[in-house]
Amino acid sequence: MTKFPPPVPPERQPAGIIPEVVLKAEPDDERVWVPMEPNVWFRPLLLNTVGGYWTSLLRVRAAGVVSCHRHPGPVHGYVIKGKWRYLEHDWIATEGSYVFEPPGETHTLVVDEDVEEMITWFMVTGSMLYFDPQGNLVNYTDVFDRIEMCRRHYEKVGLGTDFVNQFIR
Ligand code: FE
Repeated sequence: MTKFPPPVPPERQPAGIIPEVVLKAEPDDERVWVPMEPNVWFRPLLLNTVGGYWTSLLRVRAAGVVSCHRHPGPVHGYVIKGKWRYLEHDWIATEGSYVFEPPGETHTLVVDEDVEEMITWFMVTGSMLYFDPQGNLVNYTDVFDRIEMCRRHYEKVGLGTDFVNQFIR
């Protein structure tokens, strides 16, 4: 039998440390997925109001343009299922791919016809700015918008406005 050392006692943890978040990333309850537009959902994992970032799963179940956007801050992604690409690049993010998106770039996320379902974990820092094909800024989002979006959805589907609180730090 493996002998482990005793656990680090609570008094050795820093004062004021915030609680961890541990959850099943792909939820059993379909209502946890927040619809963003037809066939596109957002599953919040961590909505960090102090660091100004959020981590979530993006799920897409139809081919098409998901968004043309720019992020002033860095983005990290890990593809869990399916694949996607940016019109501005010749690489394809496939199952198991890690992607780092540098701050400042504007790009267009698309999912191709041969993909039944795409699920990708993203960590987005700061905000996302959305553009129309002419390059006009049409919308933006940050962690506070995401929290509000979740609140509205969770209230509507009967999980309650406070359901989102478990993801907020
Ligand atoms: Fe992006």
